[in-house]
Amino acid sequence: MNRRKLFQIFSALGGATLMTKREAAAQSQAARATRGMPSPKIKDVQVIQTAPAGLRLPVVKIITDQDGLYGYGCACFTQRADLVVPAVERYLRPFLIGKPADRIDDTWQAMYNSSYWRNGPVLNNAISGVDQALWDIKGRQAGMPVYQLVGGKVREAADCYGHASGEDFPQVLESAKEYMSRGFRHVRVQVGIPGMAGYGSRAGGSQVKSLHSGPVFEPAVYIRRALKLFEVCRKELGDEVELLHDVHERIHPTQAVQFAKDVEKFHLFFLEDVLSPEDIAWFRLIRQQCATALSMGELFNSPHEWTPLIAERLIDYIRIHVSQAGGFTPCRKIAAMAEQFNVRTAWHGPGDVSPVGHCANATLDVVAYNFGVQEYSPFNERLQEVFHGCPVMKDGYLYPNDAPGWGIEIDEKAAAKYPFGYGERGSHKDLNGGWGEVRKRDGQIIKQ
Ligand SMILES: [Mg+2]
Repeated sequence: MNRRKLFQIFSALGGATLMTKREAAAQSQAARATRGMPSPKIKDVQVIQTAPAGLRLPVVKIITDQDGLYGYGCACFTQRADLVVPAVERYLRPFLIGKPADRIDDTWQAMYNSSYWRNGPVLNNAISGVDQALWDIKGRQAGMPVYQLVGGKVREAADCYGHASGEDFPQVLESAKEYMSRGFRHVRVQVGIPGMAGYGSRAGGSQVKSLHSGPVFEPAVYIRRALKLFEVCRKELGDEVELLHDVHERIHPTQAVQFAKDVEKFHLFFLEDVLSPEDIAWFRLIRQQCATALSMGELFNSPHEWTPLIAERLIDYIRIHVSQAGGFTPCRKIAAMAEQFNVRTAWHGPGDVSPVGHCANATLDVVAYNFGVQEYSPFNERLQEVFHGCPVMKDGYLYPNDAPGWGIEIDEKAAAKYPFGYGERGSHKDLNGGWGEVRKRDGQIIKQ
């Protein structure tokens, strides 16, 4: 006798009501299983504006319609942080309320295309804040760290480099040795230029004579000083430590070609931003003339910038500021594309990335096979007072949090103690966290 016949007999005996309840329960159970987790809807989008370390860190908070389910995302464009806030609150918030929180790529594409004009730093950072918050929500919903949602770890932790700097060579050496004694295998070295505003270190002595009263920088003087620095570092620190250096796009492309050739003998782990984004076509010339490892990308916010450099293998490390590119979603794709060309990652990780952004960096680091190195910036006490669950540094390795999502909780009361402007001084304060200007001796402005 088949089940259908049994059901007919059972119904005739008055068991229909019981059977219906059982059927309904079974159907409900099946529906739950196939539906998976209930889809949360975006209920509110807020921006936490905090500056515990004296740098403006806008962080997006998305609240869903499910009790206690929310997420955080880094939207840190420190130099124009005040503009990111209305981009989120006035444009993305009304666009997003009521939308499902679990369709991340779809939401990213919708936000990206909704302004028509796109790929600007303010809008990309605003999009990143939302994108990362949605990943945080998905992780919290699943009860897993984001790195588990995207395939799990391919390494235990991220090998990092620290910033060693000083007014003169002895100070840089002391700073580098301090990092090495803490277990760091990679150290970025930057030295001051007497009387000038060099990048990454303080100037020593009184300002050089110039035709203006502001900070001065001369590319040729810097280049000679940097070459001497590498010589001193190799002599005093040995060959085992990996040395890195950031030019910060401050020299002319012709100088960049020569400089990349001249530093070849020092075997840098990488030479960063030897060109500006406007000059990236010159990488072809550098590539033809030396084997110096090159990194580039923290200023990039458009696929038109990184795609040719990766596809033509013109750089060795892609160094994007994750929120500047639009968040975790596009950077996962960039990493995957770069893997096909054996270009490695070195995500931007200084103090103007929030701890939420550092968690996104650390997540990308441990899940991407083509990871290269991670820039490290310490989390001071005030940062840790606001952001609970910062990634942990040990022996030069950064460990992502194992808690669900990014593993970060923000103490919003503590965040409010350090509003935008906290700790800012001089022109930095006058410019609402923006940067001032640096000029050559003759008064010509330079890229910073
Ligand atoms: Mg840099």
